[in-house]
Amino acid sequence: DLYNKLIELKGNIRVFCRCRPLNAEEIAEGASTAIDFESAKDGELIVRGHVSSKKVFRFDSVFSPEEDQEKVFEKTAPFATSVLDGFNVCIFAYGQTGTGKTFTMEGIEGARGVNYRTLEELFRIIGEREGMFQYEVTVSVLEVYNEQIRDLLQTGATTKRLEVRQVAEGVHHVPGLVEARVANLNEAWEVLQTGSKARSVGSTNANEHSSRSHCIHCVMVKGENLMHGECTKSKLWLIDLAGSERVTKTDAQGERLKEAQNINKSLSALGDVISALATKTPHIPFRNSKLTHLLQDSLSGDSKTLMFVQISPNENDVGETLCSLNFASRVR
Ligand code: ADP
Ligand code: MG
Repeated sequence: DLYNKLIELKGNIRVFCRCRPLNAEEIAEGASTAIDFESAKDGELIVRGHVSSKKVFRFDSVFSPEEDQEKVFEKTAPFATSVLDGFNVCIFAYGQTGTGKTFTMEGIEGARGVNYRTLEELFRIIGEREGMFQYEVTVSVLEVYNEQIRDLLQTGATTKRLEVRQVAEGVHHVPGLVEARVANLNEAWEVLQTGSKARSVGSTNANEHSSRSHCIHCVMVKGENLMHGECTKSKLWLIDLAGSERVTKTDAQGERLKEAQNINKSLSALGDVISALATKTPHIPFRNSKLTHLLQDSLSGDSKTLMFVQISPNENDVGETLCSLNFASRVR
């Protein structure tokens, strides 16, 4: 269809920028906003500098604080169709802690995010294609924390350390990872929620832990065209990345510094890989982090990638905002 043709023409990497609203606390403090949506053209975003300078960024889509989950999903929905058509898809949320990565992906009560809506769309299309196609869906939930992969669907006290293995040319696999077969939206959502809840077990501060690890949902789809007998196998990755804020040696020591360095390493490795893919560089440095190694098959070839770069409107956050926007401009 037209959308897929557009994707082919323009490359397989999309970047959407989303700005959260000022929160109650910021409003009470009289915080001002550094992002100008009024004078920006479609797909543009303007960051006001301290004096009179301004910086313009361009993305495939820009969502202002007023644009809700429905609006965001309108632009995200075509990726669900791609998965059922046999493409691998990676959807990431990138940004400083507190900018709405989890809001965009996981959503909140009464405002479902991309994860739920994408699954809903997947099962809706599966229903629509019944009789012509047969699909089998399995899900996994994992996290990457301190360059270690943890299976969040693994029950029992001891968690095995998982590794990425190459099982054939261009085929990577995580031996031992739990893959749960799900028959419908409710089952899929239940399993993903169970995994998300297991995330903070064993950590003293659930919020801090979640901002320092990458939370990864994987939906594997096997499809069979009942008329031609043709089979497809594809993966959809939904990833709530660790917070991208810079941490300096003066802010952190010991374990906290090690965490920060690992986050830094994996986010810059991700940026390197995506920009190498975008510029068609022959050597793609997948092996530089657990995250890129894990996603290798789903980032290369004719896979589709969507990156949400999440930002704060607050003038006080403008330094981090510019870092995030520069990162996102590099991968585009
Ligand atoms: P992150 O995961 O990046 O640390 P969160 O998703 O936890 O950030 O968002 C921080 C807070 O801001 C949460 O209370 C969240 O509900 C709220 N929030 C984020 N984005 C939006 C938005 N677009 N609209 C309304 N509230 C939002
Ligand atoms: Mg979060």
